[in-house]
Amino acid sequence: MDRFKKYKTMIFPREVIVGHNTTEQIKGMCRRITRSKNALIVVDKNTKRISGDKIAKILSGASYEINTIVISSPIMKKDVHVAWPTMKEVNSVVKAAEKYKSEFLLGVGGGSVIDVTKLAAYELSQLFVSVPTSAAHDGMASPRASLKDKKGSISKPAVSPMAILADTGIISKAPRRMLASGCADVVSNLSAVKDWELAHRIKDEEFSTFAASLSETSAKLLLENKKLAEDIRTGQEKAIWQAVKCMITSGVAMSVADTTRPASGSEHMFSHVLDRIAPGKALHGEQCGVGAIMMMYLHGEDWEEIRTFLKTIGAPTTAKELGIPKKKIIEALMNAQKIRPERYTILGEQGLTYDAAKKLAKITGVI
Ligand SMILES: [Zn+2]
Repeated sequence: MDRFKKYKTMIFPREVIVGHNTTEQIKGMCRRITRSKNALIVVDKNTKRISGDKIAKILSGASYEINTIVISSPIMKKDVHVAWPTMKEVNSVVKAAEKYKSEFLLGVGGGSVIDVTKLAAYELSQLFVSVPTSAAHDGMASPRASLKDKKGSISKPAVSPMAILADTGIISKAPRRMLASGCADVVSNLSAVKDWELAHRIKDEEFSTFAASLSETSAKLLLENKKLAEDIRTGQEKAIWQAVKCMITSGVAMSVADTTRPASGSEHMFSHVLDRIAPGKALHGEQCGVGAIMMMYLHGEDWEEIRTFLKTIGAPTTAKELGIPKKKIIEALMNAQKIRPERYTILGEQGLTYDAAKKLAKITGVI
C-alpha cells in the first residue's frame, strides 16, 4: 500500500473583530498579534480621514511608532472604480516600510487599499492587519489580491491578514451600493462551488469539501434569510454585521482551499472579461452576481433564487442595471472561458458560442 504523502498548508487570520465602534480595539488587537511596536498604516485620502487618522492616534497613544503612507485613491465615478492601484503603489508601500523600518502593516480602506497592503506585506514577509472601511467584496480576508495591469485585472498570491478589524459603524457609512456588491460577491460562491465540483468530477481536480461547505454556507446564510436581504438594502448595521461575517468566511474558505476555487468560478471569469471590455461601469461583486444568475442556469440550479435575492438587496440583475451594453454581455460570456482556460468550469473547454451566449442572457432576463 502507498504511504500517505499528502500535505496541505492553511493560513488563517488569527483574530477577527466585527462590530459597532470596534476601532478602539485596534490597540489590544495589535498587542495580541505581535510584539513589534513599529507599524506602517496604508490609507488613501478618504480612508485616512474616515479611519486612518484615528487608528494612528490610538496606536501612537499606546507607544507605537506609527507612520502613514497615503496611496493614490482609486478614481471613482458614481461609486465605481475607473482606475485601480497598480504595482507602483505596492512598491511605494514597500519602500516606505523599509525607510521607516516598519515591522508590520495596517491596511485601512476599501478593497484597493487592502489589496495593496496585502501584496506589500507579502513582498516584505511581514504580517498585516486588514481594517475595511467598506464591504464591496470578499477581499478583506482572502489570501489573494487583485490589481490592475494594462490588460485588466490580475489576481496575485498574497498573504491572509493576521487580523481583521471591521467596524460596522464605519462600514455603514459607505455607499449602500458597495455593500450590495459585497453580498452579490458572496452569493456568487454558489456557482463557483458548482464549477469546482464539476472540475473535480471531470478533471479530477483537487477538491475540499470543508472549503466548499464554508463557502456555500456563507452564501446561503445571506440567500435564505429574506428579512436580512431587506435589511441589507436599507443598510441596517445589524445586516452589515451579518454580511461582513459572511464575506470574511468566504475569504477563509479560500485559505482552507489554498486556491480561489470556492469563491471564484465561471461567474468571476465573466466579470474579469467585463473589466477589460467594459471598464468602469459596474462593481466587481455586481458583475459576479449577474454572472452567477447565468452560470447557475447553465448548471441547472436554482438561478431564480439568486436573481430574487439580488433584486431584494438592490443589486443589478440586468445588463441595463449594470450599465453595460447587451452586446458586451454576450461578448463577455463568449470570452469568459478564454480568460482562464486552465480553470475548468461549466463553460467547458471551448466556451460559449454567440448563439448560446445570447440565448443564456435572454432566458435569464439579463438582456
Ligand atoms: Zn469576488
